[in-house]
Amino acid sequence: MRTTLPANPETCPRCFVGRIERVKAVLTRVVNNQVLSVPDFPAWECDVCHAFMYDPRALLELQQVLTAKPSHPVRKTLRTAKSASPEAKLKKPAKLNRLP
Ligand SMILES: [Zn+2]
Repeated sequence: MRTTLPANPETCPRCFVGRIERVKAVLTRVVNNQVLSVPDFPAWECDVCHAFMYDPRALLELQQVLTAKPSHPVRKTLRTAKSASPEAKLKKPAKLNRLP
């Protein structure tokens, strides 16, 4: 995956003979111990040496979607903070009334 593709790849970066064609493939990854398969994932394949690689841009987009998951815990903390605040408001006036 370290081979860098030009913007419009036509010649294979591995054999420099074949032409790279855009193909669709099933991408299978293991994320959080769960198998994730993406059908019709954009990829490139050489017609001579059959060098195969997934489209780097599509992989980057997929990674961004996968790494965007930590936003869920933030929502949970917001919910607990909202549900906890009415209780705190109710308890505080009761304590204030007892003190004087
Ligand atoms: Zn090739």
